[in-house]
Amino acid sequence: MTYFRAVDPLPLESSDHNKLAEFYRRLGEGQLSTTRCTRCGRTSWPPRGFCPECASDGFEWIELPGEGTIHAFTVQDTGLPAGFEAPRVFAIVKIGGHRVFSVIIDADPAAVTIGQRVRLWPLRVADEPKGAPRWLPAFRPVAAGTAP
Ligand SMILES: [Zn+2]
Repeated sequence: MTYFRAVDPLPLESSDHNKLAEFYRRLGEGQLSTTRCTRCGRTSWPPRGFCPECASDGFEWIELPGEGTIHAFTVQDTGLPAGFEAPRVFAIVKIGGHRVFSVIIDADPAAVTIGQRVRLWPLRVADEPKGAPRWLPAFRPVAAGTAP
């Protein structure tokens, strides 16, 4: 596949380009994680290498739960970048005390509801220019009746 960086809508995730590469590595293993300041203990979302509370650049990685609930959502039918299928459901997912802006996959847009339980389902997207895999956080509905 020919790769055109100029139109690539995705972040560069490898450690060559991204100080938070660990986030994406963990995501590829099925784990949603974020940063906690080692000075004041504040947990941030999205992960940050610099604490907005105390200005420390010391941080550690913590795991967030695998499931959350839909706090708000919208459905995009048109205008998506090339390669993205419509309709696409975007949602704010409440998880581990944070609100994560993400995509809901494998969902009928007409059946998505506020408060619906969703499970982390990392989405593999186009590889980086040097071939490293790339992941984005995504969620899919938890089937009704599934044990927590
Ligand atoms: Zn701090």
